[in-house]
Amino acid sequence: MGIRVDALKCTGCMACEMACGYHRDDAFALLSSCIVAYRTREKKDYFGVILKEEESLVIARPEGVEVRKIGAAGESGGDSSAKPMLLRESCDLCSGMDAGPMCVRFCPVDAIILE
Ligand code: SF4
Ligand code: SF4
Repeated sequence: MGIRVDALKCTGCMACEMACGYHRDDAFALLSSCIVAYRTREKKDYFGVILKEEESLVIARPEGVEVRKIGAAGESGGDSSAKPMLLRESCDLCSGMDAGPMCVRFCPVDAIILE
């Protein structure tokens, strides 16, 4: 079981990032989130998310999903935000949350599903 993201639906609202930070810290602590909104300055309306899993970074962009094994050559995880993704905790599917995965629950466009 895991999280799957359809970046073509994503609007870059960051609700998943805030919800995940809340799961981690009981506050809207973006730097604690293991899912972050992804965008580029170069392209208009180009959104997606990066998810840190135990052994990989999942980068969901409009053109598709890329999975990078953590520890692979050249992987820094440092281009997504101020705090590198690799320093963050891995997704635990919101273990202990009665409501289930918070990012799935709060994504307003159902771009994240649990499968
Ligand atoms: S399932 Fe929970 S821990 Fe995993 S990315 Fe979503 S909010 Fe974060
Ligand atoms: S909550 Fe949904 S729409 Fe908003 S950034 Fe996350 S995946 Fe994209």
